[in-house]
Amino acid sequence: AMPVLTVDGPGGAGKGTVSRLIAERLGWHLLDSGALYRLTALAALKHGLALDDDMALASCAETLDVAFVAQDGDARIMLEGEDVTGDIRTEAVGDAASQVASLPRVRDALLTRQRDFRAAPGLVADGRDMGTVVFPQAELKIYLTASAEERARRRHEQLLNAGVDANLASLLEEIKARDARDMQRAVAPLKPADDAVLLDSTSLAIPDVVERIERLLSE
Ligand code: C5P
Repeated sequence: AMPVLTVDGPGGAGKGTVSRLIAERLGWHLLDSGALYRLTALAALKHGLALDDDMALASCAETLDVAFVAQDGDARIMLEGEDVTGDIRTEAVGDAASQVASLPRVRDALLTRQRDFRAAPGLVADGRDMGTVVFPQAELKIYLTASAEERARRRHEQLLNAGVDANLASLLEEIKARDARDMQRAVAPLKPADDAVLLDSTSLAIPDVVERIERLLSE
């Protein structure tokens, strides 16, 4: 069997960290679907494509030359042979990613690529529509949320730790704007699958979230 665990939810709820930890502990594969949208956006920016040219962006997504490589216990992401692990995490690329993600043709172009990540012994799939669109038959679906205020606070702390000056109020505004765009778009809007288990991480630490999901998996 090749079981799939989907972890969906808004940005900053801890999905990425939680998904990575669970995949490591179980020895399962990991799909960071947000990275594929970020890579499509970065490739488009590099090649000077307009962010609303859906045909050009879809063909860009289809032919995306990416590699996820393990290097000295570190996961690196390569685009057209270049290490873009850090480049795809900027606010500008995240914003462009959420724009290209609203285009149906782009989402279609990435569908097969995402499903190809499913392999033995299992897959943890992290994103917005993993349980609703990409893996509707998943064995366990988690919808991980946290209040916008808490997500802004965490992001602020992250940035300060990285030595980046940031304003809490404007981070909160950005988070709310991104949520609105992801939830209100016509295709694959961000919402929990009907059969998803809702987890609110506002007052839960990462290890507690991981433990809860592992308990649900073993039930
Ligand atoms: O999760 P991350 O912040 O990396 O995702 C970047 C953007 O890609 C999101 O804001 C969302 O618009 C889009 N996305 C998506 N579907 C996914 C994953 C990400 O639309 N499965």
